[in-house]
Amino acid sequence: MEKIRQKIACTRITDTIKELIEIPSVTGEEGALSDYIAQRLRAMGADTVRQQTVAGNRRNVIAEICGALPGRSILLTGHMDTVEAGEGWSSDPFRAVERDGRIYGRGACDMKAGIAVILHTAEICIQERQSLRGKVVIVLVCDEEAYSEGVLRAIEEGVQADFGLAAEPEYTHAVIGSCGKILIRAEARGKAAHAAEASKGINAIEEMGRFLSAMDTLHLPGAELIPPQPYTTLRVSGGSERYSMVIPDHCEALISKHTVPGETMEDVLAALKALARKLKLSAQFTFSVERPFYSSFLVDRSHKEVRRLQSIYRCITGAELPLICSSGVSDNNHWSTKGGIPSICFGPMGGGLHEANEWVDIEKLYQVLEIYVRFLLEDES
Ligand SMILES: [Zn+2]
Repeated sequence: MEKIRQKIACTRITDTIKELIEIPSVTGEEGALSDYIAQRLRAMGADTVRQQTVAGNRRNVIAEICGALPGRSILLTGHMDTVEAGEGWSSDPFRAVERDGRIYGRGACDMKAGIAVILHTAEICIQERQSLRGKVVIVLVCDEEAYSEGVLRAIEEGVQADFGLAAEPEYTHAVIGSCGKILIRAEARGKAAHAAEASKGINAIEEMGRFLSAMDTLHLPGAELIPPQPYTTLRVSGGSERYSMVIPDHCEALISKHTVPGETMEDVLAALKALARKLKLSAQFTFSVERPFYSSFLVDRSHKEVRRLQSIYRCITGAELPLICSSGVSDNNHWSTKGGIPSICFGPMGGGLHEANEWVDIEKLYQVLEIYVRFLLEDES
């Protein structure tokens, strides 16, 4: 282990992060970063490296490193895309700046530091192939910050592994589950009439109003590690754009619902339909599910890989690694459900995610790298 520790201390991981920051990869523009990462993986000697087209110039990177010994396969994953730079930066967001033990830049922490950890872990695994058990599968994807098209493409191709580790910026805990997310389009169809004779029509907007304000009476299930999640109206539209004395016969609402583990899309649709029936509304209500859709998931907290990660974390930092379930979604929702690979998030520590002056902590970065390397190279006992 001393040899590995020395190797980690000598890596130029901060240089890697800076290079990654300086190849902008705002969602939709992941092409150049994908080429850079594929090239690095080839140069370090990964067994297979390929780029998978998601759309146009957008390409996932999929690579494999095979160990000399038999064993489990572990997915190391993350997203190449970042949100836009936005306003309010004290330096150029696409020029990495190192200051006071931190590196600043767009994506520093979400998640170019995580990609750097994966690249350097891969490099050490290749050098230590003789003691590597099983296989390391690396999948770096596009579009996580939008519709998760990248991970969905990778899953379609049939990426397989026994367990997944996403290097998202979650350092003080590991995220072993997440809520799902459902976007529902609710439509109310009423009946048009002259507004001076309102009783002859059915006002779809008013009916929708009754329905939306009754949503807070719906039962909300909770789950282990996560409280119940409410229904949230995001948009309502209906009526004529121009002034017109007509009772509106159509109204549409977009409703977002985060689902806790165990709560399904069918449960949510059934609850909404039952509410519309119970309220005995005069308008006809229909509900449909829109993109994006994420199923909820929760990896078993006693999964042997979760416990291994906790024990390595304890060994390196002297602290316990709590397990949490997030109310937000990530690509792990898809890996863990559609992809069939139980996947958790653990990665570098930083701040300013999706804000100005995003940063990552350099000292902690080396700890995370050590945790990743030992997770893959230490005996499975
Ligand atoms: Zn992220």
